[in-house]
Amino acid sequence: MKKLVLILGDQLDINSPVLKNLNPQADQVVMIESADEAQYVWSHKAKIALFLSAMRHFAKELEGLGIPLQYIKQSPKSIADTLREILKKDNCTHLVCLEPGEYRLKCEIETLTSELGIELEMQEDPHFYCSRHEFSNWVAGKKELRLEYFYRLMRKTHNILVDKEGNPEGGQWNFDRDNRKPFPKKGPGLIPPPELFEPDAITKAVLIEVEERYSDHPGSLAHFQWPVTRQQALQAFEGFVEHRLATFGIYEDAMWTDTPFGWHSLLSSSLNLKLFNPREVINAVLLAWKKDDLELATVEGFIRQILGWREFVRGMYYLDMPQMAEDNFYDHRNPSPNWYWTGKTNMKCMQEAIGQTLQYGYAHHIQRLMVTGNFALLAEILPKEVCDWYLAIYIDAIEWVELPNTAGMALFASGGRFTSKPYIASGAYIKRMSNYCDSCQYKPDVRFGEGACPMTNLYWSFLIKHRQQFEVSPRIRLMTANLSRISDADQHEIQLHAKGLLKDLSSL
Ligand code: FAD
Ligand code: SF4
Repeated sequence: MKKLVLILGDQLDINSPVLKNLNPQADQVVMIESADEAQYVWSHKAKIALFLSAMRHFAKELEGLGIPLQYIKQSPKSIADTLREILKKDNCTHLVCLEPGEYRLKCEIETLTSELGIELEMQEDPHFYCSRHEFSNWVAGKKELRLEYFYRLMRKTHNILVDKEGNPEGGQWNFDRDNRKPFPKKGPGLIPPPELFEPDAITKAVLIEVEERYSDHPGSLAHFQWPVTRQQALQAFEGFVEHRLATFGIYEDAMWTDTPFGWHSLLSSSLNLKLFNPREVINAVLLAWKKDDLELATVEGFIRQILGWREFVRGMYYLDMPQMAEDNFYDHRNPSPNWYWTGKTNMKCMQEAIGQTLQYGYAHHIQRLMVTGNFALLAEILPKEVCDWYLAIYIDAIEWVELPNTAGMALFASGGRFTSKPYIASGAYIKRMSNYCDSCQYKPDVRFGEGACPMTNLYWSFLIKHRQQFEVSPRIRLMTANLSRISDADQHEIQLHAKGLLKDLSSL
């Protein structure tokens, strides 16, 4: 029996179970860089560079440990086709890997091994608390799948922020109300910067290669300072816990011009590459809570992102694929305006969110959900186009986490599967949570006519259009209640204005 162990670019864990019990005399590990992966969506240069650099650093570590490795650089073929060639060439009888973070790749590996008559051992990814099986058990028999109940179960099951009786620490499960404040009127003040890492020789070579090979791809490499090794990822995380965690919760949703990172952790790319494990993150945060006497609200708010959202969206992804990728609840068909790729729009909020995304491959959650995502939903853009954009443009984007967040949460493309109502907001929300509107040519409180804010206009037009859907449920009827304060004539003007915008999103 000849065993091949496949390590994908987002499975860079030296303690991975697939590396256990290797026989260096007979078995071999393979890692594949595939140009196809960089190109099947039009990926940000920094995202390509992050994957290549992290993979090459990991390969060096494996070699240092004497693990027999076949490392394929820039294969012109897909991962599956390259793998097929290796399996045949090396007469392998057995393929071992972790479950991929992308449904497409999982199916391709299953198909090719079955075609070649090769035994496939696909193991659970240990970088999640909740296995797929456990998630399916939780889902069974439920009418509504909501994060809040799943999160409570995770807290109890893993004994995190619960007392001996299983009650939540501090008497409540969720401290959202204490979090999510805007920055003070004068601005965010001095925020301790995140740990950034000067490119070493491996990364420098990757940056040159990416600039040459993928010169027409979006985004800049000028600011590439992301962690590419476990050691750097841990250092960045320790810096976050020491300097930024205490203030994370309160300003979790706040936005400000030229403040790309706020108090956020910037952990997602390292967690998604599996440079470290969420258990390490949560244990360290719990320790810091006691040691540094941190507010429970900030600690709970942060833990909810990892133990709640991260686990929930991953469970939903595997539960609903492949349908999730096709979902289009509102049957939206608009093409996305080209300025999603350039940031050249007059809307200041979109300029800021897209601009920093092109610079760093990063925007924080509220920018993704309530700025670029909110606009895409209100502007009736085809979900598939929006999802491809998110998958391409963020350094942390891997389909298991990108798609449920984009299709399921931001676009409500899966209907009420994830949330009881769409996450939509007018310019008033963006005005409250940021200073973007202060320097925008549009006015957040103008609904139609000259200077009307596109977010505001499209928000009201959306509510008018979908009034019936909103009025069916008492829980979301509140959203349309304010419509009764807008005269019929004004509602007509709102719709006329929106019609013009929807026809010509590029001009905004
Ligand atoms: P922090 O705000 O500091 O949060 C800490 C950690 O919690 C994150 O690193 C992440 O691991 C986890 N987390 C927080 N929110 C979520 C969430 N909604 N789903 C899953 N994990 C979460 N996250 C990705 O990792 N990859 C994506 O491709 C991605 N696409 C998104 C697309 C849309 C439309 C939206 C609304 C959200 C998306 N998210 C995605 C979730 C979230 O926005 C990012 O995880 C977060 O902004 C990353 O920054 P951070 O590490 O500073 O996070
Ligand atoms: Fe965005 Fe409207 Fe505010 Fe301009 S006025 S920044 S378009 S919300």
